[in-house]
Amino acid sequence: MTKDIATPVRTREILEKYGFSFKKSLGQNFLIDPNILKKIVSYADLTEESGAIEIGPGIGALTEQLAKSCKKVVAFEIDQRLLPILEDTLQEYPQVTILHQDILEADISTVMKKHFIEQKDVMVVANLPYYVTTPILMKLLHDQIPVRGFVVMMQKEVADRLAAEPGTKEYGSLSIAIQYYTVPEKVMIVPKSVFMPQPNVDSAVVRLTRREQPPVRVTDEEFFFTVTRTSFAQRRKTLLNNLTNGLPDGKIKKDEILAALDSVDIDPQRRGETLSIDEFANLANALHPIFK
Ligand code: SAM
Repeated sequence: MTKDIATPVRTREILEKYGFSFKKSLGQNFLIDPNILKKIVSYADLTEESGAIEIGPGIGALTEQLAKSCKKVVAFEIDQRLLPILEDTLQEYPQVTILHQDILEADISTVMKKHFIEQKDVMVVANLPYYVTTPILMKLLHDQIPVRGFVVMMQKEVADRLAAEPGTKEYGSLSIAIQYYTVPEKVMIVPKSVFMPQPNVDSAVVRLTRREQPPVRVTDEEFFFTVTRTSFAQRRKTLLNNLTNGLPDGKIKKDEILAALDSVDIDPQRRGETLSIDEFANLANALHPIFK
Protein backbone atom coordinates (compact mmCIF):
# COMPACT_ATOMS: atom_id res chain seq x y z
CA MET A 1 0.00 0.00 0.00
CA THR A 2 1.28 3.48 -0.83
CA LYS A 3 2.12 5.67 2.14
CA ASP A 4 0.06 8.79 2.88
CA ILE A 5 1.26 11.78 0.81
CA ALA A 6 1.93 13.69 4.02
CA THR A 7 4.55 11.30 5.41
CA PRO A 8 7.92 13.10 5.36
CA VAL A 9 9.43 10.30 3.23
CA ARG A 10 6.75 10.40 0.55
CA THR A 11 6.60 14.23 0.53
CA ARG A 12 10.37 14.36 -0.08
CA GLU A 13 10.09 11.73 -2.83
CA ILE A 14 7.34 13.72 -4.60
CA LEU A 15 9.21 17.03 -4.32
CA GLU A 16 12.41 15.44 -5.65
CA LYS A 17 10.66 13.62 -8.49
CA TYR A 18 9.29 16.91 -9.81
CA GLY A 19 12.19 19.17 -8.74
CA PHE A 20 9.65 21.31 -6.90
CA SER A 21 10.90 24.42 -5.09
CA PHE A 22 8.68 26.16 -2.53
CA LYS A 23 7.42 29.66 -3.26
CA LYS A 24 7.35 31.68 -0.08
CA SER A 25 5.29 34.34 -1.86
CA LEU A 26 2.46 31.78 -2.24
CA GLY A 27 2.55 30.75 1.42
CA GLN A 28 3.74 27.25 0.57
CA ASN A 29 4.27 25.42 3.86
CA PHE A 30 3.17 21.84 3.37
CA LEU A 31 1.97 19.61 6.20
CA ILE A 32 4.09 16.50 6.77
CA ASP A 33 2.16 14.79 9.55
CA PRO A 34 -0.71 12.47 8.53
CA ASN A 35 -2.06 12.37 12.12
CA ILE A 36 -2.49 16.14 12.25
CA LEU A 37 -4.24 16.04 8.88
CA LYS A 38 -6.62 13.30 10.04
CA LYS A 39 -7.41 15.35 13.13
CA ILE A 40 -8.13 18.46 11.04
CA VAL A 41 -10.49 16.43 8.84
CA SER A 42 -12.20 14.95 11.92
CA TYR A 43 -13.18 18.47 13.07
CA ALA A 44 -15.15 18.90 9.83
CA ASP A 45 -17.56 16.05 10.77
CA LEU A 46 -17.79 14.84 7.19
CA THR A 47 -19.90 11.86 6.18
CA GLU A 48 -19.83 9.69 3.07
CA GLU A 49 -22.46 12.02 1.64
CA SER A 50 -20.60 15.29 2.32
CA GLY A 51 -18.66 17.51 -0.02
CA ALA A 52 -15.47 19.46 0.76
CA ILE A 53 -13.87 22.55 -0.75
CA GLU A 54 -10.14 22.92 -0.26
CA ILE A 55 -8.07 26.04 -0.81
CA GLY A 56 -4.47 25.38 -1.85
CA PRO A 57 -4.03 21.60 -2.07
CA GLY A 58 -0.22 21.82 -2.50
CA ILE A 59 0.88 18.28 -3.36
CA GLY A 60 -2.42 16.83 -2.09
CA ALA A 61 -1.64 15.94 1.54
CA LEU A 62 -4.94 17.22 2.96
CA THR A 63 -6.87 16.54 -0.26
CA GLU A 64 -6.10 12.84 0.07
CA GLN A 65 -7.46 12.68 3.64
CA LEU A 66 -10.57 14.61 2.57
CA ALA A 67 -11.12 12.27 -0.37
CA LYS A 68 -11.04 9.32 2.06
CA SER A 69 -13.67 10.95 4.28
CA CYS A 70 -16.34 12.31 1.94
CA LYS A 71 -17.94 11.95 -1.46
CA LYS A 72 -16.57 14.86 -3.47
CA VAL A 73 -13.64 17.27 -3.09
CA VAL A 74 -13.08 20.43 -5.13
CA ALA A 75 -9.71 22.11 -4.59
CA PHE A 76 -8.55 25.53 -5.84
CA GLU A 77 -4.81 25.81 -6.52
CA ILE A 78 -3.12 28.95 -7.87
CA ASP A 79 0.32 27.46 -8.66
CA GLN A 80 0.34 25.84 -12.09
CA ARG A 81 3.49 23.84 -11.26
CA LEU A 82 1.45 21.78 -8.79
CA LEU A 83 -1.15 20.61 -11.33
CA PRO A 84 0.84 17.71 -12.89
CA ILE A 85 1.99 16.71 -9.41
CA LEU A 86 -1.59 16.57 -8.10
CA GLU A 87 -2.67 14.60 -11.13
CA ASP A 88 -0.07 12.03 -10.18
CA THR A 89 -0.45 11.97 -6.38
CA LEU A 90 -4.27 11.94 -6.44
CA GLN A 91 -4.75 9.54 -9.33
CA GLU A 92 -6.47 6.99 -7.06
CA TYR A 93 -9.15 9.52 -6.12
CA PRO A 94 -11.55 10.24 -9.01
CA GLN A 95 -13.82 12.11 -6.59
CA VAL A 96 -11.29 14.98 -6.49
CA THR A 97 -11.48 17.90 -8.92
CA ILE A 98 -8.59 20.37 -9.01
CA LEU A 99 -9.31 23.85 -10.34
CA HIS A 100 -6.40 26.03 -11.37
CA GLN A 101 -7.67 29.27 -9.93
CA ASP A 102 -6.89 32.04 -7.47
CA ILE A 103 -9.49 31.55 -4.72
CA LEU A 104 -9.84 35.32 -4.38
CA GLU A 105 -11.03 35.51 -8.00
CA ALA A 106 -13.22 32.40 -7.91
CA ASP A 107 -16.99 32.35 -8.23
CA ILE A 108 -17.36 29.70 -5.55
CA SER A 109 -21.17 29.54 -5.59
CA THR A 110 -21.21 28.72 -9.32
CA VAL A 111 -18.50 26.10 -8.83
CA MET A 112 -20.56 24.58 -6.03
CA LYS A 113 -23.68 24.40 -8.20
CA LYS A 114 -21.68 22.58 -10.85
CA HIS A 115 -19.77 20.13 -8.68
CA PHE A 116 -21.90 19.54 -5.59
CA ILE A 117 -25.14 18.42 -7.13
CA GLU A 118 -26.04 15.76 -4.59
CA GLN A 119 -24.15 17.11 -1.57
CA LYS A 120 -26.32 19.20 0.72
CA ASP A 121 -23.62 19.36 3.31
CA VAL A 122 -20.37 21.03 2.20
CA MET A 123 -17.45 22.14 4.37
CA VAL A 124 -14.44 24.29 3.50
CA VAL A 125 -11.32 22.60 4.86
CA ALA A 126 -7.90 24.15 4.27
CA ASN A 127 -4.40 24.82 5.43
CA LEU A 128 -4.55 28.43 4.26
CA PRO A 129 -1.75 30.32 2.54
CA TYR A 130 -0.90 32.67 5.42
CA TYR A 131 -0.16 35.75 3.30
CA VAL A 132 -3.84 36.00 2.35
CA THR A 133 -5.64 34.46 5.36
CA THR A 134 -7.81 37.50 6.13
CA PRO A 135 -8.85 38.32 2.52
CA ILE A 136 -9.75 34.66 1.97
CA LEU A 137 -11.84 34.47 5.16
CA MET A 138 -13.61 37.75 4.32
CA LYS A 139 -14.35 36.60 0.79
CA LEU A 140 -15.75 33.25 1.95
CA LEU A 141 -18.00 35.00 4.47
CA HIS A 142 -19.16 37.96 2.38
CA ASP A 143 -19.89 35.74 -0.63
CA GLN A 144 -22.27 33.82 1.70
CA ILE A 145 -21.44 30.53 0.00
CA PRO A 146 -23.89 27.81 1.02
CA VAL A 147 -21.57 25.73 3.21
CA ARG A 148 -22.08 24.32 6.71
CA GLY A 149 -18.84 25.83 7.90
CA PHE A 150 -15.06 26.02 7.73
CA VAL A 151 -12.17 24.17 9.34
CA VAL A 152 -9.13 26.25 8.55
CA MET A 153 -5.53 26.41 9.66
CA MET A 154 -3.95 29.84 9.98
CA GLN A 155 -1.34 31.79 11.96
CA LYS A 156 -2.16 31.49 15.67
CA GLU A 157 -2.11 35.26 15.97
CA VAL A 158 -4.97 35.57 13.45
CA ALA A 159 -6.87 32.68 15.06
CA ASP A 160 -6.74 34.58 18.38
CA ARG A 161 -8.40 37.58 16.73
CA LEU A 162 -11.34 35.60 15.32
CA ALA A 163 -12.89 34.63 18.64
CA ALA A 164 -11.72 37.70 20.58
CA GLU A 165 -14.01 39.42 23.08
CA PRO A 166 -14.54 43.18 23.43
CA GLY A 167 -11.96 44.94 25.58
CA THR A 168 -9.03 42.73 24.48
CA LYS A 169 -6.21 43.77 22.20
CA GLU A 170 -7.09 41.00 19.73
CA TYR A 171 -10.67 42.30 19.28
CA GLY A 172 -11.24 44.20 16.04
CA SER A 173 -13.31 44.45 12.87
CA LEU A 174 -12.18 40.92 11.83
CA SER A 175 -13.56 39.47 15.11
CA ILE A 176 -16.88 41.22 14.49
CA ALA A 177 -17.19 40.05 10.87
CA ILE A 178 -16.36 36.45 11.85
CA GLN A 179 -18.73 36.44 14.83
CA TYR A 180 -21.50 38.05 12.76
CA TYR A 181 -21.49 35.19 10.25
CA THR A 182 -20.19 32.25 12.30
CA VAL A 183 -19.52 30.74 15.70
CA PRO A 184 -15.71 30.42 15.92
CA GLU A 185 -13.81 27.84 17.99
CA LYS A 186 -10.05 27.43 18.17
CA VAL A 187 -9.78 23.64 18.14
CA MET A 188 -6.08 22.87 17.85
CA ILE A 189 -2.65 24.50 18.16
CA VAL A 190 -0.19 23.14 15.61
CA PRO A 191 3.59 23.23 16.13
CA LYS A 192 5.92 24.58 13.41
CA SER A 193 7.70 21.21 13.24
CA VAL A 194 4.93 19.53 11.20
CA PHE A 195 5.46 21.81 8.18
CA MET A 196 7.91 21.72 5.32
CA PRO A 197 9.46 24.28 5.20
CA GLN A 198 8.77 25.38 8.77
CA PRO A 199 6.94 28.73 9.02
CA ASN A 200 8.18 31.48 11.37
CA VAL A 201 4.97 31.56 13.37
CA ASP A 202 2.82 29.12 15.33
CA SER A 203 -0.40 27.89 13.76
CA ALA A 204 -3.90 27.07 14.93
CA VAL A 205 -6.91 25.29 13.47
CA VAL A 206 -10.20 27.14 13.78
CA ARG A 207 -13.67 25.74 13.20
CA LEU A 208 -16.23 28.30 12.05
CA THR A 209 -19.83 27.10 12.12
CA ARG A 210 -22.05 29.23 9.93
CA ARG A 211 -24.95 30.87 11.76
CA GLU A 212 -28.46 30.47 10.41
CA GLN A 213 -29.16 34.05 11.48
CA PRO A 214 -26.73 36.82 12.44
CA PRO A 215 -26.67 37.51 16.21
CA VAL A 216 -27.76 41.16 15.67
CA ARG A 217 -30.19 42.94 13.34
CA VAL A 218 -28.66 45.56 11.08
CA THR A 219 -30.41 47.79 8.54
CA ASP A 220 -27.56 47.60 6.03
CA GLU A 221 -24.81 44.97 6.36
CA GLU A 222 -22.29 46.80 4.22
CA PHE A 223 -22.71 49.99 6.24
CA PHE A 224 -22.46 48.02 9.52
CA PHE A 225 -19.06 46.68 8.41
CA THR A 226 -17.99 50.17 7.27
CA VAL A 227 -18.82 51.51 10.75
CA THR A 228 -16.90 48.72 12.51
CA ARG A 229 -13.84 49.14 10.28
CA THR A 230 -13.91 52.92 10.69
CA SER A 231 -14.23 52.61 14.48
CA PHE A 232 -10.97 50.61 14.63
CA ALA A 233 -9.09 52.68 12.02
CA GLN A 234 -6.85 54.19 14.71
CA ARG A 235 -7.17 52.06 17.78
CA ARG A 236 -5.86 54.67 20.21
CA LYS A 237 -8.33 57.31 19.08
CA THR A 238 -11.84 57.75 20.46
CA LEU A 239 -14.90 56.46 18.65
CA LEU A 240 -15.97 60.03 17.83
CA ASN A 241 -12.56 60.83 16.37
CA ASN A 242 -12.50 57.73 14.16
CA LEU A 243 -16.09 58.22 12.98
CA THR A 244 -15.67 61.92 12.13
CA ASN A 245 -12.36 61.26 10.34
CA GLY A 246 -13.39 58.07 8.60
CA LEU A 247 -17.01 58.43 7.48
CA PRO A 248 -17.75 60.52 4.37
CA ASP A 249 -18.20 64.20 5.39
CA GLY A 250 -17.83 62.99 8.98
CA LYS A 251 -16.34 66.25 10.19
CA ILE A 252 -19.24 68.29 8.79
CA LYS A 253 -21.73 65.85 10.28
CA LYS A 254 -20.10 65.78 13.74
CA ASP A 255 -23.23 67.04 15.55
CA GLU A 256 -25.40 64.42 13.89
CA ILE A 257 -22.87 61.70 14.80
CA LEU A 258 -22.91 62.92 18.41
CA ALA A 259 -26.72 62.82 18.44
CA ALA A 260 -26.70 59.27 17.00
CA LEU A 261 -24.23 58.12 19.68
CA ASP A 262 -26.37 59.74 22.36
CA SER A 263 -29.54 58.08 21.02
CA VAL A 264 -27.99 54.63 21.57
CA ASP A 265 -26.32 55.52 24.87
CA ILE A 266 -22.72 55.23 23.69
CA ASP A 267 -20.18 57.64 25.15
CA PRO A 268 -18.34 59.34 22.23
CA GLN A 269 -15.09 59.18 24.21
CA ARG A 270 -15.07 55.37 24.29
CA ARG A 271 -12.70 53.42 22.04
CA GLY A 272 -14.00 51.07 19.34
CA GLU A 273 -12.46 48.04 21.07
CA THR A 274 -14.83 48.44 24.06
CA LEU A 275 -18.05 48.12 22.01
CA SER A 276 -19.91 44.81 21.82
CA ILE A 277 -21.39 43.58 18.53
CA ASP A 278 -24.82 44.62 19.84
CA GLU A 279 -23.60 48.15 20.44
CA PHE A 280 -22.00 48.31 16.97
CA ALA A 281 -25.29 47.18 15.42
CA ASN A 282 -27.24 49.85 17.34
CA LEU A 283 -24.70 52.48 16.38
CA ALA A 284 -24.67 51.53 12.68
CA ASN A 285 -28.49 51.54 12.60
CA ALA A 286 -28.55 55.00 14.23
CA LEU A 287 -25.91 56.39 11.84
CA HIS A 288 -27.46 54.84 8.74
CA PRO A 289 -30.03 57.59 7.98
CA ILE A 290 -27.28 60.23 8.24
CA PHE A 291 -24.97 58.60 5.71
CA LYS A 292 -27.25 56.70 3.34
N1 SAM B 1 -2.82 21.86 1.55
C1 SAM B 1 -1.38 21.72 1.46
C2 SAM B 1 -0.86 21.16 2.76
O1 SAM B 1 -1.58 21.31 3.77
O2 SAM B 1 0.23 20.63 2.80
C3 SAM B 1 -0.69 23.03 1.10
C4 SAM B 1 -1.00 24.21 2.01
S1 SAM B 1 0.02 25.63 1.72
C5 SAM B 1 0.00 26.38 3.33
C6 SAM B 1 -1.00 26.76 0.81
C7 SAM B 1 -1.34 26.38 -0.62
O3 SAM B 1 -2.19 27.40 -1.17
C8 SAM B 1 -0.18 26.26 -1.59
O4 SAM B 1 -0.33 25.12 -2.36
C9 SAM B 1 -0.28 27.51 -2.49
O5 SAM B 1 0.24 27.34 -3.78
C10 SAM B 1 -1.78 27.73 -2.50
N2 SAM B 1 -2.24 29.11 -2.74
C11 SAM B 1 -1.62 30.26 -2.40
N3 SAM B 1 -2.37 31.32 -2.72
C12 SAM B 1 -3.51 30.84 -3.30
C13 SAM B 1 -4.67 31.45 -3.85
N4 SAM B 1 -4.81 32.79 -3.85
N5 SAM B 1 -5.64 30.66 -4.38
C14 SAM B 1 -5.50 29.30 -4.37
N6 SAM B 1 -4.41 28.67 -3.84
C15 SAM B 1 -3.44 29.42 -3.31
